[in-house]
Amino acid sequence: MLIIKDISNLKSYLTAYQNRKYSIGFVPTMGALHKGHGELIKKSKNDNHKTIVSIFVNEKQFNSKEDFNSYPRNKGLDYEFCSNNDVDLLFEPSAEEIYNNDGTILKNVNFKNILCDKFRKGHFDGVITVLDKFFTIIKSNKVYFGEKDYQQLKIIEKFILKKYKSLQLVSVPTKRSEEGIAYSSRNEKLSKKQLQDFVSFHQKVENFLKSLEKTFDIEIANQKAKDFIVEQDIEELDYFEFRNNDDLSFNGKVSESRLFYAIYKGKIRLIDNLKI
Ligand code: AMP
Repeated sequence: MLIIKDISNLKSYLTAYQNRKYSIGFVPTMGALHKGHGELIKKSKNDNHKTIVSIFVNEKQFNSKEDFNSYPRNKGLDYEFCSNNDVDLLFEPSAEEIYNNDGTILKNVNFKNILCDKFRKGHFDGVITVLDKFFTIIKSNKVYFGEKDYQQLKIIEKFILKKYKSLQLVSVPTKRSEEGIAYSSRNEKLSKKQLQDFVSFHQKVENFLKSLEKTFDIEIANQKAKDFIVEQDIEELDYFEFRNNDDLSFNGKVSESRLFYAIYKGKIRLIDNLKI
């Protein structure tokens, strides 16, 4: 596996790939890699001649310096993970090189003021700003994103349609642990007790979903979601609501929706969405 940290070096490999007419799959990550990222890599390997994974903890998408500084970083383990998963090229640029003194922030205009955008102001601006840099440099055929971050996926879909029409976005279902929770880099920051509490909460959510009539309107399901959530022992909650799969509105039936939640365990913010 190649580990490349600077753009000029990367470009020479990309030229070689293009000369050989290799198709390239790109998997952007912030590192602290886990089995969820592994699914994206697997899919890309299956679809393309070469798979490039980037590891870049993008400060512009964090709402606080504290959250950015405490984001898990496992360099050695990440190298091992990528190598074990047969990644062809790991790109790990510095912020200086990626932004190159360019302070421009792109403004996301889709799926605004709902879900994570409501609670993490500017977060998605940071996401599309960094992806714009990566897409321009890497020019892959396909790019892989997880349904775990569903609103992000929808926003990137719109962004790609507008600015990178020849790039194909591939979405990958959420990979879950045996207990049902989604793999996430932030899970490793949970104490044993917090993790147990989170698993138990998640399992109650799954039971709640099973008990719900699929023909209900989403609006009715959201009344039930409110009743359910007040009975849970949650320290802090940003949202817990059903939204339409396609446009993230409150229109339609439960069968066309997903349940989205963002909760806190201590300072750790945990998000998930469950397909009905
Ligand atoms: P991150 O490193 O958290 O920015 O995630 C990088 C990519 O991996 C994003 O497209 C995420 O949606 C995806 N991802 C994270 N966790 C999972 C998971 N449990 N299952 C599938 N994809 C995931």
